[in-house]
Amino acid sequence: MQKRTLLMIPGPIEFEPSVMAKMGEPTTSHLADSFIEAFSQALQDMRQVFQSPNGQPLVLAGSGTLAMDCAAANLVEPGDKALVIDTGYFSERFVTILERYGAQVTRLSASAGSRPSLDQVKSALEAETYKLMTITHVDTSTAVITEAQQIADLGRKHGVLTILDGVCSVAGEQLKMEAWGVDLALTASQKAIGVPPGLALLMIGPRAMDAFQNRSTAVHNYYADWTNWLPIMQAYEARKPSYFGTPPVNLIFALHVSLKQILAEGLEKRFARHEAISQACKTGITALGLNQLPIHAEYAAHTLTAPRYPIGVSGADFLSRVLQAGVTLAGGLLPAIRNEYFRIGHMGAVTLGDVLATISAIESALAGCGYVFTPNIGIEAAEAAWKATL
Ligand code: PMP
Repeated sequence: MQKRTLLMIPGPIEFEPSVMAKMGEPTTSHLADSFIEAFSQALQDMRQVFQSPNGQPLVLAGSGTLAMDCAAANLVEPGDKALVIDTGYFSERFVTILERYGAQVTRLSASAGSRPSLDQVKSALEAETYKLMTITHVDTSTAVITEAQQIADLGRKHGVLTILDGVCSVAGEQLKMEAWGVDLALTASQKAIGVPPGLALLMIGPRAMDAFQNRSTAVHNYYADWTNWLPIMQAYEARKPSYFGTPPVNLIFALHVSLKQILAEGLEKRFARHEAISQACKTGITALGLNQLPIHAEYAAHTLTAPRYPIGVSGADFLSRVLQAGVTLAGGLLPAIRNEYFRIGHMGAVTLGDVLATISAIESALAGCGYVFTPNIGIEAAEAAWKATL
């Protein structure tokens, strides 16, 4: 029998069988009618998922980092001032990318597991005039969720473009791009969007589009230049064939299927399911006596959980025992404390059964590592937390 493991890392995730089946269909021409129709609908459905009725969707072959690179390349001109709300590894990455395009970056940082307060953001925006600000909605390295709505609101009041890295949030966490005043949101396919790795997705709001159109310098990146891609996206959406670079045909067919499923579930229901699953997982972890990286419960994202290892448990030993029990989890990512915590992804098609199987594998690994706890206490607590949400 083929060995199966349950993939519970914060991306890539377990994908729906219908999405995987679509991926495996024979590849069509990128100019085939069926492909043009699927791409057109996917672009339109993206507007609904991002809740950005006036946004311009953009889909590129690449990962989330390309989406970040693409946003920076097209919005930054040398000398522009940028503020990065820094909640971890991926916020740091944005600093590096923005600087590569000549931005003068100020970072507003918080210690691991914390986040800058709204007062700190307000003071930073009052102290300097920025062209743009980045927020990592959920920093996957810390499992901290930022107050995106309130921060975007501050950005709007100060005339700053707000760019949201939603790689670990879009389609899993509440995001109302237009109502909140987020000017550009980006994500990648392999997380809550529910499609295997390979797609970078951006939603460009009207103010970000204006900033792009008013550039005085050329975009210093050939592949990511919106000048090349906007006519292509607009043509596909209008159901006309077009070409700049060959689109990842199978992935876009799969995206079409997944976005339809997301909208069929309903965004509010989907966010509530993610909250309930997250609550079940976190309650199970707490019942086992494990702390979490986010320093307050309200700082914790719903798309992943970042438990700290109990004293005496080694990460390498623990993770290999979890794998032997049939579940793949991720280690820590923040370099300074990477051996102190691990990460459980629970987004997209995740079910209560997946969470219970994960907690069970964690219990078996902890017992194997010599950690003492009441057997089944995590599973029972997770199940009880889930039932309480019904
Ligand atoms: N931002 C965040 C918040 C992420 O979680 C990730 C990936 N884990 C990225 C950016 C980069 O995405 P990718 O690995 O697809 O390049």
